Amino acid sequence: MESEFFDCHTHSEFSACAEDVTLQKYTEIARTTPQAFAVTDHSAHICYPPDKRWGFWTDDAAELFERSREQARQCVTQYIEATRRAQCGGMLIGIELDVLPDGRIVFPEGLLGTLDVVLGAIHSMPTLRHERPLEEIEAEFRLQVEALARHGMHVLAHPFRLLLSNQVPVTDELLEWTVRMAGQAGFSLEINSHQQFHEYDLRMVRMALERGIPAAVGTDSHRLAEFGDFSYHVAILREAGLTEQQWQSHLWRPPRPAREAAAG
Ligand SMILES: [Zn+2]
Ligand SMILES: [Zn+2]
Repeated sequence: MESEFFDCHTHSEFSACAEDVTLQKYTEIARTTPQAFAVTDHSAHICYPPDKRWGFWTDDAAELFERSREQARQCVTQYIEATRRAQCGGMLIGIELDVLPDGRIVFPEGLLGTLDVVLGAIHSMPTLRHERPLEEIEAEFRLQVEALARHGMHVLAHPFRLLLSNQVPVTDELLEWTVRMAGQAGFSLEINSHQQFHEYDLRMVRMALERGIPAAVGTDSHRLAEFGDFSYHVAILREAGLTEQQWQSHLWRPPRPAREAAAG
């Protein structure tokens, strides 16, 4: 298992789409290997009620979230307590943060700052569901990225997955806007191996590196078999022209206090 990478993105049983990954397994891995990583479950799966775990992916997302605010706070608190109890070795605790179409984050107020790693992700876009024109889809994409940036995300997870998996073309202009935004707002862009978009990832990484923006490495593990496999990241970084000696200085690492807390 390669340990020079920090895996910013893994899931546990707190995500409805996780398969055999569990906090218990991560604890074993953290105890027995030098691999550093963050557990980053989906905020929408934690915040929506158990019988509506996919409620965020519907047109009732905002209303359902509003109705389950109190329960969401309890569930997020339980998530943070459980993951902190499991934390050891190189394990950090984070979240994969969702944002509602109106720009509000799917997370209770005041708790985001207690986490080590905040990934922002675009998982649901009403304009896509309703097959709106490309300019409306792009506008919604920008709005969600800006909202996540305002809330201090460290890394934009799989930046173009939702668009590309819905056969929406990612224009050079949108790619450039995203990289520019990352530079201005100070977030990193993830190379995500769970669903691979080689051509776009390579273009994004090249553009980011040219502008001094670090790339983040994420396996987005939903299955244990994905954990620790950095072959895709290595391929992208090499093709982008980075030698192994350059990886450490060009890749995103979590803020120092979080790492020190984990080490202690
Ligand atoms: Zn995601
Ligand atoms: Zn994920």
